[in-house]
Amino acid sequence: MRSAWSDEDARAAIAQHVERNDVSASRCNEDIALRVYSSRLIGREPGLVLHGGGNTSVKTTLRDDLGDAVEVLCVKGSGWDLASIEPPGFPAIRLRELLRLRELDALSDEDMVNAARTRLLDASSPNPSVETLLHAFLPHKYVDHSHADAILAIVDQEREHAEALCRALFGELELAIVPYIMPGFALAKLAAERHDEHAKRRGRCHGLVLLQHGLFTFGATAREAYERHVAAVTRAEQHIATRHAAALRAPPSARPRTTGSRATPSFAPVVRGRLGGDFVLHLRRSPAIRDFVDDPALAQLSQRGPVTPDHVIRTKQRPMILDVPEGATLEARARAVDGALASYRAAYRSYFKDQVAAKGVTRRELDPDPRVLLIPGVGLAGVGANEQAARVAADLYEHTITVIRDAEAVGRYRALPDGDIFDMEYWSLEQAKLGRGSPRALEGRVVYISGAAGGIGLATARAFAARGAHLYLVDRDGERLAEAAARVGGPCEWAAVDLRDRAAVADSVEAAVRRFGGLDGLVSNAGTAPQGMIADCPPQVLEDSLAINLLAHQWLAQAATRVLAAQGRGGFLLFNASKAAFNPGAGFGPYAVAKAALVALMKQYALEGGALKIRSNAVNADRVRTNLLPPDFVAQRARARGLSPEAYFRSNLLAQEVTAEHVAEAFVHLALAPSTTGAVLTVDGGNIAAAPR
Ligand SMILES: [Zn+2]
Repeated sequence: MRSAWSDEDARAAIAQHVERNDVSASRCNEDIALRVYSSRLIGREPGLVLHGGGNTSVKTTLRDDLGDAVEVLCVKGSGWDLASIEPPGFPAIRLRELLRLRELDALSDEDMVNAARTRLLDASSPNPSVETLLHAFLPHKYVDHSHADAILAIVDQEREHAEALCRALFGELELAIVPYIMPGFALAKLAAERHDEHAKRRGRCHGLVLLQHGLFTFGATAREAYERHVAAVTRAEQHIATRHAAALRAPPSARPRTTGSRATPSFAPVVRGRLGGDFVLHLRRSPAIRDFVDDPALAQLSQRGPVTPDHVIRTKQRPMILDVPEGATLEARARAVDGALASYRAAYRSYFKDQVAAKGVTRRELDPDPRVLLIPGVGLAGVGANEQAARVAADLYEHTITVIRDAEAVGRYRALPDGDIFDMEYWSLEQAKLGRGSPRALEGRVVYISGAAGGIGLATARAFAARGAHLYLVDRDGERLAEAAARVGGPCEWAAVDLRDRAAVADSVEAAVRRFGGLDGLVSNAGTAPQGMIADCPPQVLEDSLAINLLAHQWLAQAATRVLAAQGRGGFLLFNASKAAFNPGAGFGPYAVAKAALVALMKQYALEGGALKIRSNAVNADRVRTNLLPPDFVAQRARARGLSPEAYFRSNLLAQEVTAEHVAEAFVHLALAPSTTGAVLTVDGGNIAAAPR
């Protein structure tokens, strides 16, 4: 690893944060600006920290509200990521009072949080890191902490071997060794003791290697602390590289596979449907991942535990191995998944029961489902309540694979015993990091929306995204769809698809499954509005209308139903029909005929999908301003009724214009109505002639 320090960038950081004064002067100075700068250098390197991992601090002087100069510890606040941290991400705590805490024999986690919070300069600051006291007790201006992959490979060994390796590799870097104890007051005191002993004996101490945990380095300047970090990681990396070379291990891609590659993630909906909550799956299949999941030693390598206890709240203590027989039928796949899940859950429950009994504590058991799936022949899947959580689990496990491989090259990979993992998993300060609010109505549900670049489609996409849904958007117009997708917000994938092409439709549903692991609903919205008197309608006009306004809905509903059935947890099909299905207008035959058939299609799916808990419903909207119709069309229709265009849009029972957002809300209501199927919901401001009967 090379130092990324640049004096020019460091000066720019000072200019940005101090001289241009983007934060009030009482909250930022040069020390803090440089702290921000080098924290970001660490944060942007995935081999050092991932997803909010690691923490850094600086000891400096700020003025309090009385104008008095106060010595403070500015340490990373919870909820901030080192890669993008700003000065407010470093809450300032009165240092002298923190240091006095070292005199105490013990301090509970709650009291430790309280001790830091009550000494903040700014009461609105985020909670300082759970490792605040460790930073405070080290007598150095800048302190950098990471769970670097290469360091973990060295410290995740049997204790004697880890200590011998650390002495050999880091002795001349003046790093002291700290045995594993859980973060908290006791670790802060132990780390400070180890530091003091080393400094006394050697005249200096530049950092700490924490067995089974990670690395701390210090310095008088931001650059010194950072470059000592880089130096330690580099030493570890060099040693690992030498050991890999000595083992003459063939590169991953050249090794034989135990199973062939399976391109279709056909197992995904089967798994997703059987997990306890509304989970999203995120699939990965790099050569290193494939090499790991196809390794004959997978079972014993992967079941030893996490590489650093910090991961456990996001990955669970062990991944689940899912061996799905190749070419198996849906039933056989389902049986394999059921078997694997049943034993995973049983193992998790007994781990919980054993630990609670052994420690004599009471805890509320977390859900027993895996967060990482290892699938021989396929790759790995992260599991999470939403795509972000699933990605985090996958990222952490990708790095876990690197650490396990490297640890095996320098010795034998060893994780902490279950007792220590349990303490971390059920530690209130760790669980608080997950920030559980009440989930949104459609959090983590996957919804496919067609015609998403149009007015109603885009409004519908936004309405579902606002409820937490993950979206797969299609439209025939890729350019407009890209613009629309950018306005949706939330996890969203899009593709230009010609819905008349049955194979392309099936592929796009498969792509949605690949992206999110399954599907929960379809809003089949795309349509056209052809006109013409039915008696002399050119065949092509009617055929085109049937192709898009009827058959395309069928291709989509068919492909979606296949996934919903494999998932086995129900779902919804929503069709954008039209009032023309019940109340046709003269000159609109090619449209009305197809839409009437679409309502019949909706009912057929309601009838046949009920047994699978698949609900099928339609929305009949009318007079919504969209660009489906030619520009002069509304003016003509209005004139024919002796109305102005504005009055035309309000000529309904409620005398109010119907908007695309109203239609979108109707789709959301139907998606959330658990006992409604086979229904047509009108969104037309009231039109008795078009009321369903
Ligand atoms: Zn840590």
